[in-house]
Amino acid sequence: MMHYDIVIIGAGCSGLSLAYEIVKQQKLDQKIIIIDSKKEFVKDRTWSFWKILEHNFEDCLEKQWSKFSVQLNQKTKTFDQFQYPYQTINSLKFYEKVKDFIQDKIEIKLDCKVESINQDNGNFEIKTHLGNISSKYILDTRSPKLETGQLYQHFYGMEIETEDQVFDEDTVNLMDFDCDQKDGVHFFYTLPFSKNKALIETTWLSNIGHLDKNAYIEELKNYILDRFPRAKNYKIIREEIGAIPMFRRQVSNQKNYYDLGLRGNVNRMSTGYAFPYIQEQSQRIAKNLPHLSVISPISSKYEFLDRLFVKVLQNNFGKMPSIFFDIFQPSYQNEVIRFLSSKGTLSDDLKVILKMPKLLFLKNLI
Ligand SMILES: Cc1cc2nc3c(=O)[nH]c(=O)nc-3n(C[C@H](O)[C@H](O)[C@H](O)COP(=O)(O)OP(=O)(O)OC[C@H]3O[C@@H](n4cnc5c(N)ncnc54)[C@H](O)[C@@H]3O)c2cc1C
Repeated sequence: MMHYDIVIIGAGCSGLSLAYEIVKQQKLDQKIIIIDSKKEFVKDRTWSFWKILEHNFEDCLEKQWSKFSVQLNQKTKTFDQFQYPYQTINSLKFYEKVKDFIQDKIEIKLDCKVESINQDNGNFEIKTHLGNISSKYILDTRSPKLETGQLYQHFYGMEIETEDQVFDEDTVNLMDFDCDQKDGVHFFYTLPFSKNKALIETTWLSNIGHLDKNAYIEELKNYILDRFPRAKNYKIIREEIGAIPMFRRQVSNQKNYYDLGLRGNVNRMSTGYAFPYIQEQSQRIAKNLPHLSVISPISSKYEFLDRLFVKVLQNNFGKMPSIFFDIFQPSYQNEVIRFLSSKGTLSDDLKVILKMPKLLFLKNLI
């Protein structure tokens, strides 16, 4: 049986971001392997975020924008005076870059599904369908299972190509609330890669039973027809479906076993953004090696505010579109972005919080 100091389970965003940082910071004293059940790397998603901090993947961008909008009741607010570009990373470029960078330093084994994990004499024994591996530490990034009845940001998106030029390629439409709001908060999200190519997503913040792909497809097709009537005969290039918890999962409390990435709650509960926090967490873990320490990069201030926000949301679905719309203040563009990206100063936070209905939030504090 092969023995390693660290086994990283999952060659996705968090497993590979960490591997990249370990090699970049030359913390290569330990024997590390990454294992993943997938057979190959494909463009399975895009990761978007406001670039507040430097990161390692500037050359993996699909596109970046300096303008975005939000929409409610046929009113549009446009943001174009902010200093942090909204970036989208192409996951395949990211996977390829990391694979090349860590080559010969950290082993990656694909098509290697973890079947069970046992602990024996201080070591872990990982049973995979390619054989067993033993390891002192485990960093587990396997996607968490859906928990029925819990609140999720769940979504389905299609990247489409149209014959006519129908998209405003300079403007991301972050949240379009002019749609059905039954049993949750609902909006559409449009990332225009060019005048005739965009990723459009239907997104719900609601309690989840399962992901109903057919229902999402129906919503999305109707939205495209309605919002982009000239988009007829579009070609679907790619689809993505997902659910990001708006609650905190119980993470592993086993000694020498850590949950990372989405499995380790490294996402903002209120917004779902995770990519920037995964980068921060990876830097910190690598910096501390050979001592393994895993601390959330999301501060207790934002954890507290998000818990309150999610509680208000859960009890007041119908009021949320206008609450979200009010948070986006064109007169405080950088402040709002820093707040949503967990990098607000006290003054930024106050400016945003004071735009929310105080009585409603106070009532939910109790
Ligand atoms: C469709 C989608 C779009 C998203 N978009 C954004 C965005 O725009 N911006 C943002 O900030 N965040 C976004 N997120 C949230 C978050 O950034 C991503 O989920 C990100 O990929 C999380 O990284 P991860 O490493 O935790 O999980 P993943 O990247 O999903 O990696 C987990 C890996 O574990 C592997 N695995 C699973 N089971 C096993 C097993 N039994 N054995 C071995 N390997 C296994 C999987 O194959 C996978 O490669 C998105 C999430 C989804 C689902």
